[in-house]
Amino acid sequence: MTFAWEQPTAAVAPRYAVDYRFEEMAALFQSWGFKRGNAERAFSAVYRGGINDYRELEGILPRGLLDRLTAGAMPLDPVARVEVSPSEDGSTKFVFHFHRGDAVEGVFMPFGKRTTLCISSQVGCAMGCTFCATGVMGFRRHLSAGEMVSQVLHMLKASGGTTGRGDRVNVVFMGMGEPLHNLDGVLAVYDILTHRHGLVLSERDVAVSTSGLVSRIQKLGGMERRPQLMVSIAATTDEARSALMPVNRAWPLEDLLKCLEAFPLRKRERIMLSYVIIAGKNDSDEDAERLAAMAARFPSLVNLIPMNAHDDAPGMIEPAEERLQRFYRTLLDKGAFATIRRSRGRDVAGACGQLVKLQVASQ
Ligand code: SF4
Repeated sequence: MTFAWEQPTAAVAPRYAVDYRFEEMAALFQSWGFKRGNAERAFSAVYRGGINDYRELEGILPRGLLDRLTAGAMPLDPVARVEVSPSEDGSTKFVFHFHRGDAVEGVFMPFGKRTTLCISSQVGCAMGCTFCATGVMGFRRHLSAGEMVSQVLHMLKASGGTTGRGDRVNVVFMGMGEPLHNLDGVLAVYDILTHRHGLVLSERDVAVSTSGLVSRIQKLGGMERRPQLMVSIAATTDEARSALMPVNRAWPLEDLLKCLEAFPLRKRERIMLSYVIIAGKNDSDEDAERLAAMAARFPSLVNLIPMNAHDDAPGMIEPAEERLQRFYRTLLDKGAFATIRRSRGRDVAGACGQLVKLQVASQ
């Protein structure tokens, strides 16, 4: 099977403000003859001030720089339109329509004093996981860094949230797409969101979820600064995993587990193992025992995610509650750290595996 690994990210013009790492913005301003301090003010205004128009920075940035910016040298927002669907459970699904075309989804999930923002990294996905609605549509394109960052900013703004130091916000790349397939873009987003002049998220506040791209996990592990790692397991034998996740044919379970054993972890860090649990497919006692044995090979936390039924995965449903609880207890009895993660936003099709191929028809 062929994955679209090497498909390059198309050159994107224009570059929006949210596409720039801080150092890139500072270098751009300096190349125009303006001091670095202006980049600090502009970067901070975008991320903490939530500005919608450069004219809000009258008197803050020099006239010549403002003239360039308002003339379109660095547009503010790659998002043309946002659709918002609040869920009864308190979460909200967003659809982001980009000026470039295409649209993706994100989900805003408040948990007490902490808010989790689930964002997309690609339009479609090359990985073809059979339980996932996004996988059915295939790969369309990578999102630019700005198209990812803008999802965060729009969700914070629309929810009345504020930006800047002190907010308790998690960003997880668990929406549409395989984040490690778009690794360069995701790392740019990570740098932008954690920058001291930006949202100031900590390195533990950002997580990427991968289907198990071993070569990219190894690359991530070699980075000095990186987001947290979440890996979707979904099955405990190669035969079952290859049926659910075609990536397993390229990197079988043992290759993946060896890679995770070697992944350099920070103090008290654990690798999160997502396990979409599907009735009759991967929910047996033997599955639970094998999963616990995998989880014991490195510091980990297993997230059991009951399958969210949708039309693109016929016959795949969540297990009965009794079976789910038995699976969970088996994990705990075998010494695994585990939680059951009930997806938020089910009633607005915003839960895991339900972020859908909505924009195929828009092209
Ligand atoms: S589960 Fe993730 S990696 Fe798999 S097809 Fe869906 S979006 Fe892609």
